[in-house]
Amino acid sequence: MNNSLQHFIDGAAAAASDGARMALVNPVDEQQYASAARGTAADVDCAVRAAHRELKHGAWSQLTGMQRGQLLHKLADLVLRDTEALADMDAQAIGRSPMEPRMMDVPNAVANLRAAAGWANSLEGRTIPNGGYMGTPTLSYTLREPVGVVGAIVPWNSPLMITTWKVAALLAAGCTVVIKPAEETPQSALHLAALCKEAGFPDGVVNVVTGFGEVVGQALCEHPLVDKISFTGSPEAGREIQRVAGPLFKRVALELGGKSPQIVFDDASFDDAVRGCAAGIFVNQGQVCAAGSRILVQKGIAARFAAALAEAAKSTPVGDPRQPGVRMGPLAKKAQQERVNRYIESGIREGARLLAGGVSTPSKGFFVQPTIFAGASNTMTIAREEIFGPVGTIIEFETEAQAIELANDSRYGLAATVWTSDLARAHKVAQQLEVGAVGVNCWSPLDANLPWGGLKTSGIGREGGISGALAYTEEKVITVLLS
Ligand code: NAD
Repeated sequence: MNNSLQHFIDGAAAAASDGARMALVNPVDEQQYASAARGTAADVDCAVRAAHRELKHGAWSQLTGMQRGQLLHKLADLVLRDTEALADMDAQAIGRSPMEPRMMDVPNAVANLRAAAGWANSLEGRTIPNGGYMGTPTLSYTLREPVGVVGAIVPWNSPLMITTWKVAALLAAGCTVVIKPAEETPQSALHLAALCKEAGFPDGVVNVVTGFGEVVGQALCEHPLVDKISFTGSPEAGREIQRVAGPLFKRVALELGGKSPQIVFDDASFDDAVRGCAAGIFVNQGQVCAAGSRILVQKGIAARFAAALAEAAKSTPVGDPRQPGVRMGPLAKKAQQERVNRYIESGIREGARLLAGGVSTPSKGFFVQPTIFAGASNTMTIAREEIFGPVGTIIEFETEAQAIELANDSRYGLAATVWTSDLARAHKVAQQLEVGAVGVNCWSPLDANLPWGGLKTSGIGREGGISGALAYTEEKVITVLLS
């Protein structure tokens, strides 16, 4: 693995304009394992100008949808070929077992690219009957045109998969891009850009500038030649991005955080619900936007369910994720470990019952034990704020109406899960939940054909599915006087 990373601008590696570097630290042993260029506004300017040139005048602007689709399929083949390397990059960067990205993130990335390859040739306009123009008939039709140069700002928790959600769709639509990966996880985005070159995408179509959000991210939001910002990350950064990009009339799509409910009715398959809720809060150490962190359980089974979930937490082996048998690694960075510990302290202070895990004891690596609270109320801090760590909070309810009210009583609205064996109830409840996605008897189903995104503080817009590709187009209407 290359341990001295540079930007990827206009088809070539490039150093930061001032030569600055930033360290990449292994969360398991806290040792630096690589460094990357620490980008500047000047670097962003170079990358955006390359992307703009290619959008307006380059070979890219001349390609048909079918040709863009062929390139996307080629890229998918190369990502598949490099599965091991890409999974290792994302795993090392955030202390995850390589097994998870190998089984989930890379296959999802391949699926995102293949699905988008199909849309590239099917983003159609419409012919629209209308009343004519001052008594003369007209023909009106619409075109779907690329929105332009996109600034794609990505978080660290699932770097390759989230990058391809954006990049696959925007390339299908004919846009060009400057990717700003999270400061902790630039490798897989840089490798993806190199694979774009190998696949035959013209130089300048896909660029990567590494560095910090407040510099590189902000410069993208301010740059006059960037037409759209596609952001995934925290609500705090999302608010800042809107503050900067909004007055410049850039299109802004925001995929933000969540405090997603998992509603467990007493008629649910008990073991499936325990397994599903455990996965929903412990996969990737809980560092998942859709983490099912508010576990709403019907009163009759609440005590038994809490005991079973606590047992699942206690029996999860935590350690170096490269070791066989280990199921949970450290959190991605020290600041994240400290943040999660603060939330665990607040849960104890505010009176929730700690059944498993707790505040981490000092050791090498950014570890936090899988933690379960029971007897919590929906007003506690651990039920209101996104923790982004392996901390599940169990809250009891009595009736279906109460469950829906509790689930919707949140500033977030990203995802929800309903566990029940009553199909009519499942549909009824799912339709009343104020979220972008509901899983019934399955936590967070992901598929390249499905739209993904949130309501309220969880964001604006959708990624994935045909909705994701359309979001990178502008609809233009053309009216021709038929006289
Ligand atoms: P973050 O907001 O700190 O950073 C995300 C990205 O934004 C990084 O690349 C960062 O450098 C950049 N950034 C930070 N400040 C910026 C600014 N002022 N201007 C421009 N760019 C800026 O988030 P994070 O800690 O990397 O990720 C965790 C958050 O992401 C959680 O809230 C999680 O729920 C959310 N997330 C959401 C989804 C989703 O699909 N809805 C998916 C994954 C993660």
